[in-house]
Amino acid sequence: MDDQFKYPPNREAQSAARVRALEALLIEKGVITDKTVDTVLGYFETKMGPFNGAKIVARAWVDPDFKARLVADTPAAIAELGLGEGMAGAEGEHMRAVANAPGVHNLIICTLCSCYPWPVLGLPPYWYKDPTFRSRAAREPRAVLEEFGLGISTDIEVKVWDSSAQIRWFVVPERPAGTEGLSEAELAALVSPESMMGVALVQPAA
Ligand code: FE
Repeated sequence: MDDQFKYPPNREAQSAARVRALEALLIEKGVITDKTVDTVLGYFETKMGPFNGAKIVARAWVDPDFKARLVADTPAAIAELGLGEGMAGAEGEHMRAVANAPGVHNLIICTLCSCYPWPVLGLPPYWYKDPTFRSRAAREPRAVLEEFGLGISTDIEVKVWDSSAQIRWFVVPERPAGTEGLSEAELAALVSPESMMGVALVQPAA
């Protein structure tokens, strides 16, 4: 079982080489141009990414009514923020927010593959697609969170949300104490992608 999922130590270099070869071949065949990949990458650097999720979370922290709407109808609430193109398309159609609360900690996974709310979190990190992470996070989420450095005490319920083509979850983490004086933009700067996946908490500004 372990061997089945073992990665070669140079997996990143291998993946990069494969991508470069594929890109060159697709350009040679005239399927894409030499600009296509850069355009797509630029999209995920400037339009779709965790900076959107951070703005959404910060708004939820300062506006409880927005937070309630966000949990009740996530795409409609996000549309209120005017975050620009892409919020509704490309894997954004079925986004659902779940909010951490005292006594409840949420974790998002995709046991089948790597479904993820692209518009608000960007592309998933490598480990999110790891078969071992996917199966273990469903089976023993507390142990996995512990390995992320996030110990959840036993009086707090851990809820695991399994994303799919129908529903793509993200977490609204709790606002850290001591952030009362911060602006919405300053709050957004505290919100990490990991906190919106549920593998970390938001830390107060140093
Ligand atoms: Fe998936």
